[in-house]
Amino acid sequence: MADNLFFTEEHELLRQSIREFVVKELNPHAADWEVEGLVPRSVFERMGELGFLGLNHPEEYGGGGGDYFTSIVLLEELARCETYGVNTGVAVQVGMATPPILAFGTEEQKQRYVVPAIRGEKIACLGITEPDAGSDVSRVSTFAEKVDGGWRVNGNKIFITNGYRADFMTMLARTEKRSGYKGMSLFLVDTDTPGYNVSRKLEKVGQWSSDTAEIFFEDMLLPEDALLGEEGRGFYNIMWELQAERLTVAAACVATASDVLDTAVNYAREREQFGKPIIKNQALAHRVADLYTQIEAARSLTYLTAWRYDHGEYPVKEISMAKLLATRVAFEVADEAMQIMGGYGYMMEYLVQRAWRDIRIARIGGGTDEIMREVICTALGL
Ligand SMILES: Cc1cc2nc3c(=O)[nH]c(=O)nc-3n(C[C@H](O)[C@H](O)[C@H](O)COP(=O)(O)OP(=O)(O)OC[C@H]3O[C@@H](n4cnc5c(N)ncnc54)[C@H](O)[C@@H]3O)c2cc1C
Repeated sequence: MADNLFFTEEHELLRQSIREFVVKELNPHAADWEVEGLVPRSVFERMGELGFLGLNHPEEYGGGGGDYFTSIVLLEELARCETYGVNTGVAVQVGMATPPILAFGTEEQKQRYVVPAIRGEKIACLGITEPDAGSDVSRVSTFAEKVDGGWRVNGNKIFITNGYRADFMTMLARTEKRSGYKGMSLFLVDTDTPGYNVSRKLEKVGQWSSDTAEIFFEDMLLPEDALLGEEGRGFYNIMWELQAERLTVAAACVATASDVLDTAVNYAREREQFGKPIIKNQALAHRVADLYTQIEAARSLTYLTAWRYDHGEYPVKEISMAKLLATRVAFEVADEAMQIMGGYGYMMEYLVQRAWRDIRIARIGGGTDEIMREVICTALGL
């Protein structure tokens, strides 16, 4: 499929400038950030300066006012960065933690959180998951009790991206003592609020430069105006936001898969065994043909679904299909790319190992494979 069915010349210019930024300003530091386990705050500041943190956010808040495909371009290009943590941290900032504020927040909340987030002056995180509430968000038990002048919050969040050093959290908590999806609300929490405690930075298989934290709230007092959107609508509002995020995950996975496969194929053209380049073995070349076919199928579904989303549809079934397909294809491609590169692919000095470690989370975060299938089944009436 020709990319220009979906991307204009402006998108392509944007793509070039982000690609240049990745090559010149991110990649030279990628190995260090992997070891340090953190992308420095200055990256957010620089991206804010370049206008990359609000590409499709409204201009009145400092955003670029672009369409949804501008955010796809951003995350596709960041997916090519030699450390995947930048992509993950930025995706949370631009695609997960701030859109609910734009959609449901007051003018004051937008000025206080979205404007500095777009400038890269504040780092955002999203707090949904808890030790007992992963796929089943209805089990969220962090409780915000109404008290004089505001809310007293007690509870615990886990696996929070950017959580180690975020300035604010868009947080889901229960506001009614009942079970199920009703009675939950969203809050905006400044992380310097007394009672907000980052208990540990978590060690992960991949995505080393993305900081992931566990957080405790102990008698944390929030003002009344920390409530984001309508009380009791938190679950529904956050589920609305997750759809766009799932599509950008799919697009980023397709970009990573393409790059990794290109790298492995280039290697296979050069590497000779039994007197010829290994790519000349039909068994291997056919496998490569299958993988490129799968990537193209994932790309087409993702772009078409993104186009429908951008034109006002809410194609939940296809969004779930795109995420399910693209994330699985990306992991399969990374695994096969390592196979094609043999022992060299397993060595830390070749980047294919990083893709293999980093991309695995895409099948878990933002809704697992199994949950995507559940959503598709529901949409099919099964
Ligand atoms: C690196 C990383 C970053 C993350 N970042 C964030 C973040 O910034 N903010 C945030 O809120 N969360 C974040 N998460 C949490 C992530 O969204 C959850 O891990 C994910 O939703 C799955 O929840 P769980 O890990 O508790 O697994 P569980 O829900 O316990 O699932 C375990 C297994 O059971 C399967 N399963 C569960 N229910 C069903 C079912 N009904 N049918 C079939 N199979 C089922 C799952 O698919 C999975 O295979 C992050 C996670 C990781 C690992």
